[in-house]
Amino acid sequence: MLMLSERQQIVDYGLKMIRSGLTTGSGGNLSILSPADNLIAISPSGIDYAAVTVADVVVVDRAGQKVEGERKPSSELGFHLALYAARNEITSVVHTHSVYATTLACLHWELPAVHYLIAFSGDKVPLAPYATFGSDELAANIIASIGSYNAVLLANHGLVAVGKDMKNCFNVAEEIELVARIYYQTKSLGQPVLVDAEEMKKVVMKFNSYGQQD
Ligand code: 13P
Ligand code: ZN
Repeated sequence: MLMLSERQQIVDYGLKMIRSGLTTGSGGNLSILSPADNLIAISPSGIDYAAVTVADVVVVDRAGQKVEGERKPSSELGFHLALYAARNEITSVVHTHSVYATTLACLHWELPAVHYLIAFSGDKVPLAPYATFGSDELAANIIASIGSYNAVLLANHGLVAVGKDMKNCFNVAEEIELVARIYYQTKSLGQPVLVDAEEMKKVVMKFNSYGQQD
């Protein structure tokens, strides 16, 4: 079976996504690119995460042609492919309907630097204009809006996170949901005080060497 370890990660992180409340039902999707062989493992469309097996994960090439798997790939295959084409350094994409990020996306707001953890995305999380799920227009809006950020809100829809690997990508989705919740709560109580641009530059730099990285 092609991309067995990546397929297993799609199964494991899909379960993590549903168990941590970042999405519900079969909402959201995940993919991993193997740069060595130019293949992408992506979650199947419309199957509950608890029921997905490695055999259900679909392997496609960079053009979206199916290489292995019986299932239909995620309806959002188009934006996953577009992100891998636009961003050389990423090998993972996670899409969620996490509640607080989606709340802001339904207001057509960006998420500003209300907490330093916004650095998981950059100095903010931008907003992509609304387009129908699974459409080429949605993929184009995401590419036009994400720039070099690691996350983007999708108007009236949800969140997309990208990362150098699946662990990092999932962290981005999780931490941005936390910052979105904090923003919602601070807006409910008063006027949030944002971290200034100079300080955010420092934090973004510091993130490059945070933890056990060399
Ligand atoms: P899929 O089940 O086809 O991946 O669709 C879920 C989704 O979130 C669409 O935006
Ligand atoms: Zn969605």
